[in-house]
Amino acid sequence: MDVNIKENLKLVEANIAAACERSGRNREEVTLVAVSKTKPVSMIRECMDAGITVFGENWAQELRDKHEEIKEPLHWNFIGHLQRNKVKYVVGNVDLIHSVDSLRLAEAINDESIKKNVVSDILIEVNIAEEDTKYGVSKENVLPLILEISKLTNVKIKGLMTIAPYVDNSEENRVHFVNLRKLLIDIRSKNIDNVDMNVLSMGMTGDYMVAIEEGATMVRVGTGIFGARNYDE
Ligand SMILES: *Cc1c(COP(=O)(O)O)cnc(C)c1O
Repeated sequence: MDVNIKENLKLVEANIAAACERSGRNREEVTLVAVSKTKPVSMIRECMDAGITVFGENWAQELRDKHEEIKEPLHWNFIGHLQRNKVKYVVGNVDLIHSVDSLRLAEAINDESIKKNVVSDILIEVNIAEEDTKYGVSKENVLPLILEISKLTNVKIKGLMTIAPYVDNSEENRVHFVNLRKLLIDIRSKNIDNVDMNVLSMGMTGDYMVAIEEGATMVRVGTGIFGARNYDE
């Protein structure tokens, strides 16, 4: 099936602007992360032609390969579940890792960051809807985890991320987005050293407008830009 990336991007951009408008926010407060996992470099280039510079990838080696192939400076974000033995493919190649949900993973990122003499910006992935099937820290464990990670020298916590449940009606996820924002504000008020709480990564193709209305500063949109993914290829 032919996908018209330029048209898709126009629609996503119009939706983002409308959601900002409805909630009295500035468009500049929201970053669109184009989720390019499984999609070829040619499609990423089409997005770049349309002015997109922030791309999200889920698999460490795929990220490394695309990063190597595309020489233009882009803002790569790692958004998938990250195994500790794959950290080496990600650290130094990305602006932000959205999906940190354990101290052990944060320590592995810290070790690799020290080795490469960089500081890695990260988000804490929260399983805000308490789904059994999801990665992410439960709400109660977020603060204790942040307090531990904040002691690491070469990792910097920037905020929170969640993957909301798959629902037919995006309104059903509104409560989860509200709760993640409350958690962000609550943690921010504690003024923890070496911790910023300004980034709220929430909302995907099915629910990014609701997420923006509830305070998302980053939305991660794949299907809405690139069309459906085929995992067999
Ligand atoms: C794949 C993925 C997305 C994009 O999902 P779409 O529904 O295709 O927009 C966003 N965030 C994460 C963590 C993902 O794995």
